[in-house]
Amino acid sequence: MDFKVGIIAMPGAALSNKTGSFANEVPVFMHKTCTGCNLCIYFCPEGVVYGDKKTKIYDFDSDYCKGCGICAEECPVDDIKMVLVEK
Ligand code: SF4
Ligand code: SF4
Repeated sequence: MDFKVGIIAMPGAALSNKTGSFANEVPVFMHKTCTGCNLCIYFCPEGVVYGDKKTKIYDFDSDYCKGCGICAEECPVDDIKMVLVEK
């Protein structure tokens, strides 16, 4: 079978395909209670969360986020909220 276009076959493979338009929801990093634990970075299946332990400022790359919500689910201090994308 010859897959060429639009197939995301492996975790993290979205980095070679802009998948941001798939998302119905996107995370909002509130920057209020963040402890800098980095769990959002570790758990994001696409590797699109980035941030800094020292400043505790985290964000994500909307070109590749698929809106799965795992980052928000795993944040131990509820500092990430998922919001609907208006399309
Ligand atoms: S919702 Fe969060 S965990 Fe899911 S792809 Fe986007 S940034 Fe990564
Ligand atoms: S998981 Fe939550 S507390 Fe931990 S670094 Fe990410 S936003 Fe901050």
